[in-house]
Amino acid sequence: MANTEPLLEVNDLKVTLRNGVEIVRGVDFVAEAGKVVGIVGESGSGKSITMRAVMGLAPTQSKVSGSIKLRGEELIGAPERRMQRLRGSKIGLVFQDPMTALNPVITVGKLIAEAVRLHNPGMSASAARQKAIELLTLVSVPQPEVRANQYVHEFSGGMRQRVMIAMAVANNPEVLIADEPTTALDVTVQAQILEVLKDLQKQFSMGLVLITHDLGVVAGAADTVIVMYAGKVMEKGPVREIFYNSRHPYTRGLLSCLPTISGKEGALQPIPGSPPLLSTRPQGCPFHPRCSMAKDICRSQEPALRQADGVMSACHFAAELQTIASEQPIPSVRHS
Ligand code: SF4
Repeated sequence: MANTEPLLEVNDLKVTLRNGVEIVRGVDFVAEAGKVVGIVGESGSGKSITMRAVMGLAPTQSKVSGSIKLRGEELIGAPERRMQRLRGSKIGLVFQDPMTALNPVITVGKLIAEAVRLHNPGMSASAARQKAIELLTLVSVPQPEVRANQYVHEFSGGMRQRVMIAMAVANNPEVLIADEPTTALDVTVQAQILEVLKDLQKQFSMGLVLITHDLGVVAGAADTVIVMYAGKVMEKGPVREIFYNSRHPYTRGLLSCLPTISGKEGALQPIPGSPPLLSTRPQGCPFHPRCSMAKDICRSQEPALRQADGVMSACHFAAELQTIASEQPIPSVRHS
């Protein structure tokens, strides 16, 4: 009988370092089959650590608490052997920088074949190579038979990322986590890689979790967006609500940094200051030193994540923010 449990369900996830500093603070989300969750935030917001905790790869000696369920199976506290089996077979991971993530001294065909055989030890070398060629075709690498015999340094940045994706989906995972998959790429290649990820996600009905610092990347790809700051979820909701009905000053700050085609909004407005170190997080709302709306309550009380119109927002003044007026096309790198 088919397992009807939610694909990936994360509840009150916390990651605490050995020195007591909480780097992920009570994150909740659900990744459904056939849907895309975008997790957005600046460096140090805790977005990548959240997903590493899901993979069982949180920093050594950190404490992970809360709940992470994959089709109902609790992963927190699962034996490392079990996590090794799940990584790659049920949960695939695409890293940010394929040049450092991929072994440079074996050919791309062998790299992918290794990923296949890791979870299919009985498969012959020739069948694994054939599967590697099929996977290169799947991610639209031209001349896959020829390219399978080449090394990573013979591939362009975009083609390397395709190899990375081919390895991540080699064993038909149910969840694919892509951690800044387009960061080092130019805009055209970025759009192509997002296209590949979206196509595969639809074709195999995977749950895709897209981690990025760029709201423009999630705009054309995600169904749900989670905005993180200082280890916490600041806002989450359906993509259109986040872009047109955001109820959090931080999300609005990120949106005002996005260029639009019309350019009517004038000069881009960067958010002043920089994110706090997690070890010296300010009291109250962690965003208050950078927030133009901050009032006394913001400096003393941390707001909880609450429903505000069509989104969940962690801002004391969520209800006072007006709907974003213009229904401009979402300024994504790709319009679907
Ligand atoms: Fe700004 Fe206060 Fe809202 Fe924090 S709670 S985002 S400081 S208005």
